[in-house]
Amino acid sequence: MSESSVALNSISKGFQSPSGTVHAVRDVSFHLKSGEFAALVGPSGCGKSTLLNIIGLADAPSSGSLRIGGTAIDFSNEAQLTLHRRKHLGYVFQHFNLLPTLSALENVMLPLLLLGVSASEARVSAGDILKRVGLAGKENSLPLTLSGGEMQRVAVARAVVHQPTLIVADEPTGNLDSVAGVKVLQLLADVASTGTAVLMATHSDAALQWCSTVVRLQDGLMVNPLGEVR
Ligand code: ADP
Ligand code: MG
Repeated sequence: MSESSVALNSISKGFQSPSGTVHAVRDVSFHLKSGEFAALVGPSGCGKSTLLNIIGLADAPSSGSLRIGGTAIDFSNEAQLTLHRRKHLGYVFQHFNLLPTLSALENVMLPLLLLGVSASEARVSAGDILKRVGLAGKENSLPLTLSGGEMQRVAVARAVVHQPTLIVADEPTGNLDSVAGVKVLQLLADVASTGTAVLMATHSDAALQWCSTVVRLQDGLMVNPLGEVR
């Protein structure tokens, strides 16, 4: 039996504000299998980023439980969280979040170095992945000398180089023109086809055609059963 890549059980998150508690995510449950490319959709403020932050182990839920790669996450255990982030997760952000003083190749090497892979091995793997995302020849370029689409492809390469269980992507095409956006979506779909689950928050209806499933949020609540997009 194949284990879910990620399973959420009744996840809620509230933020305290002067006017009371904001219930950003309410009682959300779903699971994604290996190889699934899921879209997380809904209007601005519906809780997409909050949910991705929890699944990406950047923030703890107020209640509920989360399993990644079959392991129950203990949000009070910082050492375990760090290990899970490095081993099981890859991240893609709207604003790329590449380290500006490192080359494209060095950015992609980082996740491997954090896992204790030797620099020479990391260099080879990072170079291979950069070729796969169409950036052969750009290995030594600094992020700011690349186009937005190229930066995001470096970010996708960095997110997959350590073969994570799950990639969380928060509006990864939000800053790209449609041609560059399609390249990034194609890459994420390719990544999913190799067995990594991908969960992508998006505003773009065009992005949905790349996804196998959709999770729709409204006011923090999941308003659809996890269903096929097409
Ligand atoms: P989305 O990504 O779908 O636009 P968010 O997850 O960013 O939505 O926000 C969901 C709700 O939670 C919004 O009402 C937002 O204002 C609130 N929120 C998000 N983060 C915080 C925070 N750190 N403190 C207080 N409220 C927050
Ligand atoms: Mg958001």
